Amino acid sequence: MRTHDRLRIAIQKSGRLSDPARDLLARAGLSFRESRDRLFCYGESLPIDLLLVRDDDIPGLIAEGTCDLGVVGQNVLEEQALERLEDGRGEAFRAIRELGFGRCRLSVAVPNDWDWPGPARLEGLRIATSYPQLLARWLRGQGVAAKPVVLSGSVEIAPRLGKAEAICDLVSTGATLLANQLKETATVFESQAVLVAPSTPFGDARADLAAMLLRRLDGVLSVRA
Ligand code: ATP
Ligand code: ZN
Repeated sequence: MRTHDRLRIAIQKSGRLSDPARDLLARAGLSFRESRDRLFCYGESLPIDLLLVRDDDIPGLIAEGTCDLGVVGQNVLEEQALERLEDGRGEAFRAIRELGFGRCRLSVAVPNDWDWPGPARLEGLRIATSYPQLLARWLRGQGVAAKPVVLSGSVEIAPRLGKAEAICDLVSTGATLLANQLKETATVFESQAVLVAPSTPFGDARADLAAMLLRRLDGVLSVRA
């Protein structure tokens, strides 16, 4: 059983959100003693520690109480929230601050040479994605029946491999789409990094630590805005 007099924050170990998350926490006055394996970083300036993990694991770590706060993209958070809803699991986490970095969009892209009269063009087609829940919600909203094909990576090559006709993937500059002869046609979800917390309050010393951290983060975020 872990003691609850320290706060534990989950951030991405290596990837697009790692440096901005660490930078934000440093600006809020947090410093860490790196452990040799670099999975756990002990907080030196405050009783706030870091756990370095895959971004996809962060909502689950919050839900099960292994970590108290996390930094993750809204795309990952909302996808997993919808998945929990579908499985009949309760709401376990929520975004408490938008952090202003990691901005991207989840978009539908189709081969360059397609005409695009609108989302109805997708009717009956297979769409490769790592975000089946967000895609399915958007398709329902558009009144289009298409089939999400779930791939965990390299979604953009699915059309060339004959696995799907279209894709639904994260885009920021569009360079990856261009390199794969695809064009962006519709935005399914707009995303940025958020601070995520459990749905239920801590009810112990972690509540005060979290409140202090939030005050500091708000100070940093207001300067940046
Ligand atoms: P991990 O090994 O942690 O699972 P990953 O490959 O899922 O890494 P990254 O590619 O580093 O993760 O992306 C992490 C997050 O960065 C995304 O979930 C998204 O919120 C954000 N992001 C911002 N721009 C982009 C982009 N162009 N492509 C993908 N993700 C982006
Ligand atoms: Zn990931």
